[in-house]
Amino acid sequence: MPAERPFSREERDELAENDSRDKSRKVITTPTSASDGGYAYHDPDGEDHPRCNTGGPDTEFVEMTVDEAKRRNKSPCGFCDRLSDS
Ligand SMILES: [Zn+2]
Repeated sequence: MPAERPFSREERDELAENDSRDKSRKVITTPTSASDGGYAYHDPDGEDHPRCNTGGPDTEFVEMTVDEAKRRNKSPCGFCDRLSDS
């Protein structure tokens, strides 16, 4: 396994384009704006926590639809995406 690395802007755009799942699907994301590092939205693991295990116990997440997240200029989390494929 290669070490985890940040996704580039291009990869994130590609992920967003390839994310053909239901636009009203619930995802969770940080309340910070995309320009502030909170660019990704995550698949919840069922307990309001990202599947990829990002963030800590004190990290705040908000729930929204994919559509809403995209309007906020957020992209799918590449790590959650990989996890959901396996
Ligand atoms: Zn994630």
